[in-house]
Amino acid sequence: MKWLVTAVMMTVLLLANPVAAEWYRHDFNVMGTSASVELWSENQQQADLLIAQVVAEMERINQLLSPYIESSELYRVNQLAATEAQNISPEFYWLLQRSIDFSKLSQGAFDITFASVGYRFQYRESVAPSEEFIQQHKALIDFRSIELYEAGQVKFSKPNTRIDLGGIAKGYAVDRCIELLQKAQVAHAFVKAGGDSRVLGDKRGRLWTIGIQHPRQPGAVLTQLPLENVAISTSGDYERFFIKNGERVHHIIDPTTGHSANKSISVTILANDSTTADALSTTVFILGPERGLKLIETLNNVSAIIIDSKGQFHYSSDLQPQ
Ligand code: ADP
Ligand code: MG
Repeated sequence: MKWLVTAVMMTVLLLANPVAAEWYRHDFNVMGTSASVELWSENQQQADLLIAQVVAEMERINQLLSPYIESSELYRVNQLAATEAQNISPEFYWLLQRSIDFSKLSQGAFDITFASVGYRFQYRESVAPSEEFIQQHKALIDFRSIELYEAGQVKFSKPNTRIDLGGIAKGYAVDRCIELLQKAQVAHAFVKAGGDSRVLGDKRGRLWTIGIQHPRQPGAVLTQLPLENVAISTSGDYERFFIKNGERVHHIIDPTTGHSANKSISVTILANDSTTADALSTTVFILGPERGLKLIETLNNVSAIIIDSKGQFHYSSDLQPQ
């Protein structure tokens, strides 16, 4: 009898074996940038599975939205939508709708048809289109030529129109991954794709700290922000650029000029979701501190930190340092 009791206790002890509650982290590359996921889980198997799902979700979105992958929905639309209305998935439709919303909000500063000129910039090869090309194609940067039909179709009203979702896609991917983790009951997590991050909950009694990169010292952190339950996105002129005739040619295009936007060097946006933070960081970068802050002040739960072209800092009113 005594032995039996001991055996039962052993079983109970084994079942109650301490769970592997800890932080799990994975860093990987996707969409031409570095991505990370970190989450708190009490179960290694669940953590491994969720991390694999996050990686797969980011790659799925890359396959959907890449302008370079010939099987992507975006590639097909760019090839054919000027000739004939294209059927698109509800997800792609939603992203186009959101992008057009940001175009309207920013009076055309955020405009995914920037790609009609933008596709001729090759940052790795230090190639920019000629001034002649820019002047001839600038008028094609116009979100109003994207016609969306509720049946789930898109058409471009002008030939040679191209779109690129690079100003919103990473934020969208981060949101999808955070949702996936939320559905799996994860309460504390961090997801990042390039300059777009979002944190779920806090870091178990502490705040998350997210660094803003120094715009002129590669790899150096300018400042660390303590955060919880928020999305943060930074757009900078140092991400993809080259110097031509003393001027910095980078990947954020001002639709009014067809050239790289030059009113800011770094813009950080805080918002409830990453899609919004991503689109707005690109938008405010183009608008510059004056018009950018004016726009931000009209929005609820959105904050901005802008470094202008002279290196001057500008903050939205809710962040004003005391
Ligand atoms: P990243 O994280 O890639 O640096 P950003 O959020 O800073 O992205 O946005 C830059 C990207 O936005 C560019 O690489 C380009 O794909 C896209 N983009 C550039 N100009 C515009 C514009 N005027 N409107 C919308 N998207 C733009
Ligand atoms: Mg952006």
